[in-house]
Amino acid sequence: MNQNAIPLRIIGETMMQQPKSEKKPEELDPFKIAQKQLDEAAAIMKLDPQAHAILREPMSMVQVQIPVKMDNGTTKVFTGFRVHYNFARGPTKGGIRFHPQESLSTVKALAAWMTWKTSLADIPYGGAKGGIICDPKALSTAELERLSRGYVRAIGEYIGPDIDIPAPDVYTTPQIMAWMMDEYSVMEGYNVPGVITGKPLEIGGSLGRGDATARGGMFILREAAKHLHIDLGKASVAIQGFGNAGEFAHKLITEMFHSKVVAVSDSKGGIYNADGLDFDAVKAHKLKTGSVIGFKGAKEISNAELLELKVDVLVPSALENQITSKNAANVKAKIVLELANGPTTPDADEILAKNKVFDIPDFLANSGGVIVSYFEWVQNINGFYWDIDEVYSKLDRKVSKSFWETAETMAKFNTNPRMAAYILAVDRIAKAMKVRGWY
Ligand code: NAD
Repeated sequence: MNQNAIPLRIIGETMMQQPKSEKKPEELDPFKIAQKQLDEAAAIMKLDPQAHAILREPMSMVQVQIPVKMDNGTTKVFTGFRVHYNFARGPTKGGIRFHPQESLSTVKALAAWMTWKTSLADIPYGGAKGGIICDPKALSTAELERLSRGYVRAIGEYIGPDIDIPAPDVYTTPQIMAWMMDEYSVMEGYNVPGVITGKPLEIGGSLGRGDATARGGMFILREAAKHLHIDLGKASVAIQGFGNAGEFAHKLITEMFHSKVVAVSDSKGGIYNADGLDFDAVKAHKLKTGSVIGFKGAKEISNAELLELKVDVLVPSALENQITSKNAANVKAKIVLELANGPTTPDADEILAKNKVFDIPDFLANSGGVIVSYFEWVQNINGFYWDIDEVYSKLDRKVSKSFWETAETMAKFNTNPRMAAYILAVDRIAKAMKVRGWY
């Protein structure tokens, strides 16, 4: 293990140190939410209590310190996490976030959701997640590279193509994946493209990975609209978040269905125009100014207002806990497509269900990203690369199948889409744990 990386230890939850400022009220604690969702599904499906106990907690976690030489010559120490939630169905898989408010609870929740996501998509993985508490916008490119490499050195023994395969998530990019893949390959002494996905094409990335999360979401939205008899050609759409997921959602929803995107937002705020927002113009404005706000011909709105707009489709594509018990009753959309992870709290879920809002859960709605990541890993292992049509058609088949399996389970258990997706996913993992002799 490199001296620059000091892994503290692989430890149980109670020993993990969580900065006090990150403690959240119970309703908004992401991992409590993830556990609550699992408990609800377990009750509906009458899950074996032993399987339930295994699935309520991560299999293992690592917290690491990453000392990074800053450009001004000082050394700053960053804290990073990696959580392996469950590996009954295969090596664990999940993204890495760089975020100032990153917390262990968030990483654990996201690792749990990854576990359900890979199972629901029926790909041979478990679930994991990682993160570093940092503000990537405040780091130079060289500092970001040293931080990314330091993280991989710190968790090096904990990842690998057959162990755990990271990927990009909030504020991590294909470039960061490339540095990480390079660092891991240096540690191993040979090229290991399969250790990480979301890489640039030059080093084994898959065609179609860039917009995979949003594109998978679009295929699912198409099926949901069929199910609900909604004409997407006449639909109005609001999108919260204008990063990888949200920006491509704006582009694809316009291209594929000719729906009208009336509002988009980013961390600085939102913009609204009832006549629709032209994707290329908004993107050019964001590239020039760093934000969607200030876009000509649109009214400025807050992120909170965006969620309550009278639209047909609402696409949360930013962070967790956006639709809560406080604002759920004001959501007027017919369909909520959760491209973000964990945007809706369980209390809000109940309100949305009561108001007949069809809320497509995160681990179904945004599964396109991990599915094309899986395709990337398969291509890396085989050293044989597919064309874009093959990627898109395989993605379409996978997510459409997941959608209709979820719809059938909804009808069978008379429950909402999230619980139906949970039941399907958890049942597959419970069966894998059973045949492996874990209970
Ligand atoms: P990103 O870093 O590319 O973009 C995040 C966007 O959210 C940015 O536009 C940012 O300005 C905005 N944002 C940040 N804080 C906000 C706030 N408080 N209110 C409104 N907007 C805010 O990240 P991403 O990859 O697009 O991820 C977004 C969500 O989608 C996350 O929940 C992530 O876990 C989820 N997701 C992403 C992928 C993927 O492949 N990128 C896959 C599955 C799920």
